[in-house]
Amino acid sequence: MNDKKIATIAVRAGINSDEHHGAVIPAIHLSSTYALKGFNEKRQFDYSRTGNPTRATFAQAIADLEQGAIGIVTSTGMSSVHLICQLLSTEDTVVIPHDCYGGSYRLFTHLAKRGQFKLIVVDQNDESALTEALSQKPKLVLLESPSNPLLRLVDIEKITKDCHQVGALVAVDNTFLSPALQQPLLLGADIVFHSTTKYINGHSDVVGGVLVTKDKALGEELAWWANCIGITGSPFDSYLALRGLKTLPIRMKQHQENADVVAKYLKEHSAIEAVYYPGFPDHPGYEIAKRQQHDFGAMMSFEVKGGVEAVKKLFANLELFTLAQSLGGVESLISHPSTMTHAGMEISAQIEAGITQSLVRISVGIEDSDDIVKDLAAGLAASQL
Ligand code: PLP
Repeated sequence: MNDKKIATIAVRAGINSDEHHGAVIPAIHLSSTYALKGFNEKRQFDYSRTGNPTRATFAQAIADLEQGAIGIVTSTGMSSVHLICQLLSTEDTVVIPHDCYGGSYRLFTHLAKRGQFKLIVVDQNDESALTEALSQKPKLVLLESPSNPLLRLVDIEKITKDCHQVGALVAVDNTFLSPALQQPLLLGADIVFHSTTKYINGHSDVVGGVLVTKDKALGEELAWWANCIGITGSPFDSYLALRGLKTLPIRMKQHQENADVVAKYLKEHSAIEAVYYPGFPDHPGYEIAKRQQHDFGAMMSFEVKGGVEAVKKLFANLELFTLAQSLGGVESLISHPSTMTHAGMEISAQIEAGITQSLVRISVGIEDSDDIVKDLAAGLAASQL
């Protein structure tokens, strides 16, 4: 267990580990294979799908940040989710939130349709529905807090206790906050995972994933599967993500400072019906956020008055915000969840989850907040013409 503070762990990951040359920053190891010392005498690494020094350094850094036993770096965030599915067999039940990331929803619903496991999709804020789901004795419960795109929160500690009582493992998608702002394993969860494509790498130039387990044996089982099915991350992506990680805590500070300004601005704007941001005291998850998060994050979504036509005008009149999928990079991004990130969900499931045509999601970047607000002001004014 690494007892250093988060910023120290992030910066120091892999530093001074080169015993040959004394390189301060760990080298990138691109080699796909490693020479044996002799007959049946393996070194620490033998083949890069199974293990790679650069990937191992990155995995250890995230495991340390999440205070877990084993970290596994995968090729994408979705392959981390898929890796967790390897724990399931046809008789097992899985519970997922009705408002999770569209890609996770698509994966679980399609695998369930093929009979790989039984699936219950539930509003995890509906206590009686969740209790009913847990009475089915699921093997795995997936949590996503805050959720994508509506920023709903669930009480990770409480739900985890309830899940453990029925013998379920709890896996938490921590992509929206990163370990700098939330550490689900410390709240009792068994597995935490990320799309490192987002805040952890932070520069929108890597697609990757990582998963950390609290328990060593569970981590070893999943690492075995990651090698078996061949979804481990590449050395180059691991190198870039490790580089991005070093500034994670400081980036998150600026992301949030800007998000606070932007959220308050949007809340007062006459073109906006509602803003979903857990940093508002009247947000239903505010008290939970204060308890289980280190801060409120920099993701938010809002409903524009005038429906999808107003949304189109808003998008067409922005200069600084880029209309693009993804989140968590230094640059501000804007998206329309229904037709973009959550297009993998049928419209009926979107409606059930509360995703409307007038819903817009933003990932607040670290540009100057004056410029971010000015851009939104221009777009929102045009949206109502
Ligand atoms: N989880 C969340 C919350 C996401 O937003 C995403 C991607 O947008 C993923 C998982 C999947 O990650 P990736 O796109 O890296 O496969």
